[in-house]
Amino acid sequence: MAHHSLPRKMLGHFPTPVTELDRLSRYLDGPRLLMKRDDLTGLAMGGNKTRKLEFLMADALSGNYDVVVTAGAIQSNHCRQTAAAAAVCGLDCHLVLGGSKPSQAAGNYLLDQLLGAQIHFSGDFRKGETVPEVVEELKYGGYKPYVIPYGGSNELGAAAFSEALKELDTQLADVDAHVDHIIFASSSGATQAGLIVGKKVLGRDFEITGVEIDKNGSDDRTFSERVLELTEQTAEFLGVQGGFSGSDVVSRSDYLGSGYGVVGDPERQAIALTARHEGILLDPVYSGRAMSGLIDMITRGQFTRDETVLFWHTGGTPALFAYADELLS
Ligand SMILES: *Cc1c(COP(=O)(O)O)cnc(C)c1O
Repeated sequence: MAHHSLPRKMLGHFPTPVTELDRLSRYLDGPRLLMKRDDLTGLAMGGNKTRKLEFLMADALSGNYDVVVTAGAIQSNHCRQTAAAAAVCGLDCHLVLGGSKPSQAAGNYLLDQLLGAQIHFSGDFRKGETVPEVVEELKYGGYKPYVIPYGGSNELGAAAFSEALKELDTQLADVDAHVDHIIFASSSGATQAGLIVGKKVLGRDFEITGVEIDKNGSDDRTFSERVLELTEQTAEFLGVQGGFSGSDVVSRSDYLGSGYGVVGDPERQAIALTARHEGILLDPVYSGRAMSGLIDMITRGQFTRDETVLFWHTGGTPALFAYADELLS
């Protein structure tokens, strides 16, 4: 399928801004720092899933589905943006969230409810393991459910990030800026796979580095192996020639701390530094951890002063309100 023919349902505000992080760069005595502001995609407090959902929801609408089903952690940004996307499109939304019903509605879980999503709790599972049961129930009730995979990470979701890299490339050309490195939080993998495919499409030399967020894979392959597979699937889906290898997937597994969603000193420090030097809010689970990785790489001298590093802010800020105690301790 040719790239330009993919149906897209407009849900966000694009292009998202590219911001210069002057004061943070000077404080760290580091390279030039830019930030791609996908926290400002605009759909019910924004985030990177809005890009994926523009393609996924277009697919759901064209197939005449009447309800979308997806899954995630209790503070899933993906689930919150899916609930908003479903509302805009006039579809019902069922979310399968890990854990059990919290005593308080906070952060994304509060917003899910305001956005009208029906919520199911899945205990120890937070990656959609029990989605088939919900789908069966809905079908039994006469619905036609559209299942969006965990994190919106299939070839349609990843295609959105191939498009996003084109968007960035145009913005950089407009201001005559050259970016050497792109760093971001990587979890279900479609952001990374899409950027890798986009780089091939554009023929650019960006070094793309994902900072891994979640050490628990859904199977026994490594994170990089899963991203490579999704990269290949996405390239095939988009008709992109060339082939990929393990060396195309660069990810850092050394910033996982105590695991998914556990805030430690590095995340607290990264969030505070970015807020106090730039007035920009990161999130406790993803962008805070990825920025802690970037700060560590700068501190270890991994970039030269004349390089330019772009941090791709993937959103997630509503989760800050659910992590108040951990953030101020
Ligand atoms: C989902 C998410 C990511 C990770 O993106 P993937 O495409 O799933 O790898 C990063 N940051 C935030 C805030 C997210 O919600």
